[in-house]
Amino acid sequence: MQESLRASTVTSGPLGDHGESVLPPAGSIAGLDYVQALTAVALDTLREVSLNRPGPVTPGGPAAVREAAGRALAGPLLPADPGYPMDTFRRFVRDYATWSVDVSHPSAVARMQCPPTPVAAAAELVMGILNQSLHAWESGPYALELERYVIRELGELVGYGPDAGGTISAGGSISNLMAVLAARDRVLYERFGRNPFAEGLTGLGKRPVVLATDATHFSIGRAVGLVGLGTDMIVRVPSDDLGRLFPEQLEQTLATLPEDTVPVAVIACVGSTDQGWVDDVAALAEVTRRHGVWLHADAAYGGGALFSPRLRPRVAGIEQADSVTLDLHKFGWTAATSGIFLVRDASVMEPLAQQTTTLNADDDAEAGFIGLYGSSVQATRRAEAFKIAVTMNALGRDGMAAMVDGCHDLACYAADRVEAEPKLELAARPSLSTVLLRYHGADDPDAFNGELRRRLMTEGKVLMARTRVRRPDGSSPVFLKLMLLNPATTTAELDRVVDDILTTAADLDRSAQPNR
Ligand SMILES: *Cc1c(COP(=O)(O)O)cnc(C)c1O
Repeated sequence: MQESLRASTVTSGPLGDHGESVLPPAGSIAGLDYVQALTAVALDTLREVSLNRPGPVTPGGPAAVREAAGRALAGPLLPADPGYPMDTFRRFVRDYATWSVDVSHPSAVARMQCPPTPVAAAAELVMGILNQSLHAWESGPYALELERYVIRELGELVGYGPDAGGTISAGGSISNLMAVLAARDRVLYERFGRNPFAEGLTGLGKRPVVLATDATHFSIGRAVGLVGLGTDMIVRVPSDDLGRLFPEQLEQTLATLPEDTVPVAVIACVGSTDQGWVDDVAALAEVTRRHGVWLHADAAYGGGALFSPRLRPRVAGIEQADSVTLDLHKFGWTAATSGIFLVRDASVMEPLAQQTTTLNADDDAEAGFIGLYGSSVQATRRAEAFKIAVTMNALGRDGMAAMVDGCHDLACYAADRVEAEPKLELAARPSLSTVLLRYHGADDPDAFNGELRRRLMTEGKVLMARTRVRRPDGSSPVFLKLMLLNPATTTAELDRVVDDILTTAADLDRSAQPNR
């Protein structure tokens, strides 16, 4: 196949021998042959790289990657003589794969980056070839139906009724932005009859504020800035040591807000980014309803619990939030991005739809030619619904539950192991799939644990994240974070992760304090 590509019309012009300079479209018959050949090369190369790499990342750390990239990317982006596309492709795949983190490796436990299923990954190829978009009927007629299906089904999974709506978004940050926008517009309309989307925020007489906690994801702060409320207008509600927001504290904060402010949104964490703690959404909703404030449930990570009958009770009450963020690229095994934004009342998204002129002709809409430009902040939008729908259909209810439960079980196993190790300290029992630990014994434990993490990454052994955990005494020491999102990991492999942490820590401890 590779030889035929060299000689046939599919490699052409500066790319081949035929004086043509364009490649065929991927979706044409010639293009599909081409993609098939490229895919075979890609998979062979990925297999080869994977077999040769001992850990979750090629050793060497930032200096080695920088050097490799400096060598591989020394030429211009647009070379005068590019050679055969197949050769270029193979070279790029090899370099990219060699220096990528292997999210399917059992020791890749750093980020909320699940290993996508084979179905999801292959679906991405189909999406790339078909290149559909959701903004107009003629950009992706079936993609539109898939999106409606996914939003309807996920709305039902959350527990929303028939008025619910939403959109697939470019991730949790965008979903959170849409939530803050919806909250601002709905609450300021209800309180003052104002339409901030059209009129802006001047002349309100009151300063709109958003209530959050220290555990709230940083994307909320950005969203508050972006929608013009100003990040200074975020009011931090006191939370407990685990970052959980309780109705009493919320009530108290709302009751004591300055006279010249108006609360528009409360952000609940359904699975906090660091520890996976879940706020009691039903109890918070009772408070926000009384105060006429929008309640947003940020379930970007914790939404995974919805798929597990065992963990579902932990997110009970989520349907009482006015809006919900889910990220299926975190705890849902589709490739990034698979962001979901859901609202209980779809009409709140109408201002977005009114801001287009070229896309919305009444006669087209009456005839059913309706795009989904009006439910999103994007225009061109990938048909992520395809990979989400096919992945969920392939796994089924029990499959998804088993994947989520598998990760939770792994987290509990790792926590047991950490608790049993005298040199390690566990922050708390896992709530979902996160384990926070730290090594103690060193003189400066914060610096030590930071260095330990970097050493493990540089040696290509373990990829972990880090955070700080607030303590009752007011301190917030550095902890290392294991994020277990690969249900194929065995307990033996997980033991090896902890062993690697311990061995490297002991080495580091010895070299830092030779006299011990
Ligand atoms: C990851 C995360 C986000 C941001 O989502 P992205 O898809 O990375 O933009 C928002 N909120 C929480 C709680 C998260 O864990």
